[in-house]
Amino acid sequence: MELSKRTMKLTPSATVGASNKAKQLIQSGIDVINLSIGEPDFTTPKEITDATIQAIESGKTSFYTPASGLTGLKQAIKERIKADYQVDYGLDQISVTTGAKMALYALMQVLVDPSDEVLLPRPSWVSYQQQVVLAGGVPVMVETNPQFKLTVAALEQARTSQSKVLILNSPQNPTGIIYSQAELMAIGNWAVAHDIIIIADDIYGKLIYNGNRFCSPIQLTNRIAQATIMVNGVSKAYSMTGWRIGYIAGNRDVIQKVNSLLSHTTGNPAAASQYAAIAALKSDQAEVALMRQAFEERLNTIYPLVKQIPGFEMNQKPQGAFYLFPKVTAALQLIGINSSKELADRLLTQAHVAVVDGGAFGMPGYLRLSYATDLADLKVAVTRIAGFMNQYL
Ligand code: PLP
Repeated sequence: MELSKRTMKLTPSATVGASNKAKQLIQSGIDVINLSIGEPDFTTPKEITDATIQAIESGKTSFYTPASGLTGLKQAIKERIKADYQVDYGLDQISVTTGAKMALYALMQVLVDPSDEVLLPRPSWVSYQQQVVLAGGVPVMVETNPQFKLTVAALEQARTSQSKVLILNSPQNPTGIIYSQAELMAIGNWAVAHDIIIIADDIYGKLIYNGNRFCSPIQLTNRIAQATIMVNGVSKAYSMTGWRIGYIAGNRDVIQKVNSLLSHTTGNPAAASQYAAIAALKSDQAEVALMRQAFEERLNTIYPLVKQIPGFEMNQKPQGAFYLFPKVTAALQLIGINSSKELADRLLTQAHVAVVDGGAFGMPGYLRLSYATDLADLKVAVTRIAGFMNQYL
């Protein structure tokens, strides 16, 4: 059967693929520790599941909701953003989507015309590129500095008359870096000056460690805020990846068009999940604080251990999200192989630890290790990787 040209180069998500491979091995009885997944290991907090069960049992879930989401959920999002960012959006500036992934997909469809260029950092999350291509646009990976951050100089070098959108993701997947207010201000002013729309993917915004501070472009000047569309969701902060609720906040025209697109595609996200998200966003955030603290402890424990693995280098401690992104070119040399993909494969089959090749994020020569796994398993995983590498010393 002949498939569309548009999807000819479409491949499955590398992170989902790596994680599925690990899960298959685990199911076949092999003791694999899965550090490939971007999914918190905590169960969704009970107050959220209780509120959802109540919504289901009281019959609130047998109807379509508005495609843009329940008004009650949009209100909860509005209030959450006001509390977390001190920024006030109208309900008509908010749209609820089936995960932040769908939010980003919808935005590409609404903002990007064929041959429009979308600027992305190298490295960045696996799906941005494919979503740009699906919209007919051209993803342009912009080189980052040694701290994995975009700079105005690098952006200016990449800018052409076709540059339309810039995706910023802070804290960043796969590196865990956070942009400072000053860095965002410089990039924001540059974007405004060149009429470039910023998509701020703030999905990890609540997972910040060791006294670091989070800032979003929507909190900067009016002009930067107006040029920015913010994407967020409940997956990472509330341990709700399976519930599939994300959201967009920003420009009214964009939101209106996104809503039309949603009305013809996903319709509304599952009603039960929307009630769950209301409970999550309206909660006192105590559970978020506990999970954040656990991630911080894991980071502080395993960062020094990973740095000691022969051939693994990290010059900078991650500040947020739940990933480590060590450079492994020295490890490749020690083993005598030339790709980080092969190293990831060998770690899976020989050390029984699943990680993701940096090439999936546009940066071969690195590996992404997720620490969204309990501390005991993390320590065993690092010991296994170190044991594997020690053979080559
Ligand atoms: N943005 C980034 C940077 C992510 O890492 C992810 C998930 O891995 C998403 C968006 C999508 O999150 P969701 O589960 O809400 O679709």
